[in-house]
Amino acid sequence: MANSNPMVWDLDCFFAGGSESPAFSAFIADTERRIAELHQALNDTAERGADEARLTEWFERFQDIQLRLREADGFVGCLTAERVSDRKAVAWTETVQTLYARYRQALDLFDARLAEMPDDRFRAWTASGTAAEWSFVLNERREGTKDKMPPALEAVAGQLAVDGYHGWGEHYGTIMARIGIPWEDDGRKTILSAGQAANKMEHPDSSVRAKIMEEWEKAWSEQADLCADALNRLGGFRLKLYGLRGWNDVLKEPLRINRMSRATLEAMWTAVEDSIDPLRRYLSLKARLIGKQKLDWQDVEAPLPSEQSHIPFAEAAELIQEAFGRFNPRLAALAKRAFDERWIEAEDRPGKRPGGFCTDFPLERVTRIFMTYSGTSGNVSTLAHELGHAYHGEMVFGLPPFNQEYAMNVAETASTFAEALVGDELLKRAKTDTEKLALLDIRLQSAVSFCMNIRARFLFETRFYERRARGMLEAAELNELMTEAQREAFGDALGSWHPHFWASKLHFYLTDVPFYNFPYTFGYLFSTGILAAAEREGEGFRDRYDALLRDTGVMNVEDLAMRHLGVRLDRPDFWRSAVARAVSDVEPFERLSANSIFNKNLQND
Ligand SMILES: [Zn+2]
Repeated sequence: MANSNPMVWDLDCFFAGGSESPAFSAFIADTERRIAELHQALNDTAERGADEARLTEWFERFQDIQLRLREADGFVGCLTAERVSDRKAVAWTETVQTLYARYRQALDLFDARLAEMPDDRFRAWTASGTAAEWSFVLNERREGTKDKMPPALEAVAGQLAVDGYHGWGEHYGTIMARIGIPWEDDGRKTILSAGQAANKMEHPDSSVRAKIMEEWEKAWSEQADLCADALNRLGGFRLKLYGLRGWNDVLKEPLRINRMSRATLEAMWTAVEDSIDPLRRYLSLKARLIGKQKLDWQDVEAPLPSEQSHIPFAEAAELIQEAFGRFNPRLAALAKRAFDERWIEAEDRPGKRPGGFCTDFPLERVTRIFMTYSGTSGNVSTLAHELGHAYHGEMVFGLPPFNQEYAMNVAETASTFAEALVGDELLKRAKTDTEKLALLDIRLQSAVSFCMNIRARFLFETRFYERRARGMLEAAELNELMTEAQREAFGDALGSWHPHFWASKLHFYLTDVPFYNFPYTFGYLFSTGILAAAEREGEGFRDRYDALLRDTGVMNVEDLAMRHLGVRLDRPDFWRSAVARAVSDVEPFERLSANSIFNKNLQND
């Protein structure tokens, strides 16, 4: 029975019937009505001003609607991911985005009232009573309004964005659905979806990887003109909007969204840039281990030869719970619940979106996890990663809705932390040098991913915007820009590059969050620092960890780190120590690989 498959998630418990669900239709209609009523209330009082009691009531209504929109967004996100050809679900995406736009228009009116309020009254209102709990968020909204366009203009921009901005992001989904990669397994001809092909990139046989990479590049090069259109228009829209607001820094918005300063971002990249030498040594050793002079792009995340290359889903579930339990039984209990109650969509089947994510259903205070599980250790890491997100969700579900909204950079803290715990568990269970080497390799792959691959994306995107401000870029130019960024970030350590990466990576086409890259590196390194604290302090750290996660929605990152870790993020020191710890696996990797190469018996250790 499909509906009892432990690798297929349960969505019917939210709204039965998928994209045809009558219950979902009714939910959307009700949400739409609530937004309209609130909008009306804000308009009606526009001339008379607003007192504190009214602002409090409105904000409570916004929080109710916010939960409903997140719920709807989670639901349609799951539907479009599990079956990219579900046109009805794509239509719902558009509906939800329209509702979000109306909600934001109403919120803009509310923000304008906040901005109008005299400082002393605002301070008094948010210093006590119900509003005190929202003070960080209210203050942030008020400050954020001051350098935007007037509310009426922001409202128009928001409406035009549905078709003119988010539409391009959606269009990318249509392009991705066209990707079909011809493949032959044991003489059986098939067409792989983008998701299935991405999983094949982790194949242990380097000739299979080379073949899939060649087909992958070819498939994306055929869609490159369409992708370039989408990327150029998206970027152009963003730059025009920033220009209208009088902003001249493309990083202003992503930094603000991530509640961090430019000094912090620069301190982090400085530390990362200084760290690439050990990672280059690792890449060159890995090349020798698989019999090459230099690794090719598709080899970086390839597994090393090891006996245990396939991990059944049930075993992954057990292993993850064990690893989580060592740190904190609450984390293990959350994972158990996720497996038992079918929160996870993991089945390997055609028609699914590639990649993995975790999304909230805040009304039920649960999450859903999406991925394609084919039994690799990378899949196990992804699973642990998404469960880390789920734990973060659990920590904040009890807070006022707006206080639950943590930014992406700290969102990746819990996920990366969970991934590291599972990495430790895998290493502990390893019996042979070969196995240990393969596991250290997985951890170092993460270091490479966050310190090199993500940095390449950041360099690409930064330069893309510099060029885009002067005009459109053709696909060939984007290829060049991408390759140049990859060479630089990897210190030229690879033998070949992935020019169409800009086309194949969904992240560049996400419209809700610009620069969907540096927050990953932040989260990874921030969590590395937290891991060090957890190891130093043992059980006593559990509660501090939970408290840190709970505060992620109500502090900027500099304050968060100072309060719970006692460190400054706008100086390179913290980042240097985090990076040093992240690359500390290189040394044991060198030792073990020297033995393996010397004995030449890696395969039958
Ligand atoms: Zn994540």
